[in-house]
Amino acid sequence: MGTIFTARQDASTQTNLEAYAKAKNIKYFMVTYTDVIGYQRAKLVPTRAIADVQKGGAGFAGFAGGMDMTPANSDMLAIPDPDSVTPLSWKPEVAWLASDCVMDGKSVEQAPRNTLKRLVEEAASLGIRVKTGVEPEFFLTTADGKMVADEHDRLAKPCYDQQALMRRFDIIAEASEAMIDLGWEPYQNDHEDANGQFEMNWIYDDVLVTADRYSFFKFMIKTIAERHGLRATFMPKPFPGLTGNGCHAHISAWDLTGTKNVFADDNSSNGLSEQGMHFLGGIMKYAPAMTAIICPTVNSYKRINAPRTSSGATWAPNAVTWTGNNRSHMVRVPGPGRFELRLPDGAANPYLMQAVILAAGLAGLRDKLDPGPRSDINMYEDGHTIKDAPRLPLNLLDALRLLDGSEEFKQMLGPELVDAFVKMKMKEWNSYVSHFTEWERENALDI
Ligand code: ADP
Ligand code: MG
Ligand code: MG
Ligand code: MG
Ligand code: MG
Repeated sequence: MGTIFTARQDASTQTNLEAYAKAKNIKYFMVTYTDVIGYQRAKLVPTRAIADVQKGGAGFAGFAGGMDMTPANSDMLAIPDPDSVTPLSWKPEVAWLASDCVMDGKSVEQAPRNTLKRLVEEAASLGIRVKTGVEPEFFLTTADGKMVADEHDRLAKPCYDQQALMRRFDIIAEASEAMIDLGWEPYQNDHEDANGQFEMNWIYDDVLVTADRYSFFKFMIKTIAERHGLRATFMPKPFPGLTGNGCHAHISAWDLTGTKNVFADDNSSNGLSEQGMHFLGGIMKYAPAMTAIICPTVNSYKRINAPRTSSGATWAPNAVTWTGNNRSHMVRVPGPGRFELRLPDGAANPYLMQAVILAAGLAGLRDKLDPGPRSDINMYEDGHTIKDAPRLPLNLLDALRLLDGSEEFKQMLGPELVDAFVKMKMKEWNSYVSHFTEWERENALDI
């Protein structure tokens, strides 16, 4: 594993967490794992006990902790990965750790980080290392989540609004400083396309590193916002009529040393090598089946397939199409050697999002899939003219059925993970449809 899971800044697989705590004055470790849905669960472990936890893990009841288990199951143990150790900028005596879940001596198959690591190994067996960058979009709202917090943030086209960005300088800069200190190489922050919406960018890395960082980023920005009396939300479409929260992923694949981008090919007209095109072919083939995982809430389907927003465009896709440097399609090739998947939203599980990208892309490589012809139209104006592009699922139920029906995808992600995900999400769907709404009364009262 050592060659694939590379050591990060001031940590390595050899890191003794007790010694690390002494050197860095850490008093507590936040030992976390990410459950099937995408919530982070944690135990706060005092440094005096971290040596035991590093060896044997922290115990959790998987039934209570979002892992589709029963109360009769043995303890699930979260074994911290010392490579992921991240001190909290706002509480420097605490360090966060992502963990791998084990039960009865075996890796827990439906644990999202385990799923991702399995796919990273599979990519390595094909000679590649996939690197991604994510673009987290979030809203800063009032503490109750009901309104955009900044009442002066009112432009009809608010993207890159300098004035509104600066009103949030304290929050954005605090997170940015933390990322600089952590060595993530952040490079820009902006006001996005909806009132109250922001995005912060740091540099791409191996999928596992990106998944850990994105997980930590969500934790960090939510906490910083709370400390300023606000709330940061990644909900896909928190306000009707405004652009939603995407979480685009930029994707490239490298040789095992991580120095040669195998998606790059100077002679290609589309900016992607043959391998890049096959990987993209897998994404195109499996996009409908992977939508449930990367657009995983009832609310997600108000972001994709949405009517035009007040800013003029949703910036979210509705069909399975790809293009060059054109933001109206599901996949954009913004420049040589990488492509951008614009489908995932802010509710996607950070690990499963990377896992489905790998699973679909590797299938594309293995089966030498062809992504089909690129399209250069403006999808928001002329999308109806493309007759043969598959449409994205219209709601969570359709999406879950597509995922559940994809035997190939089950094999690639592991049947335990897909079954657990579908089961838990079907419960969510059933809870949603059994909720009585005023809309129904208005539309059926006089029938
Ligand atoms: P956009 O133009 O889509 O808004 P951003 O600058 O917000 O783009 O985000 C681009 C993301 O893509 C960043 O995380 C960046 O590090 C990442 N990225 C750049 N080059 C590559 C690459 N070759 N492979 C993977 N990710 C990349
Ligand atoms: Mg107890
Ligand atoms: Mg961006
Ligand atoms: Mg954006
Ligand atoms: Mg983007």
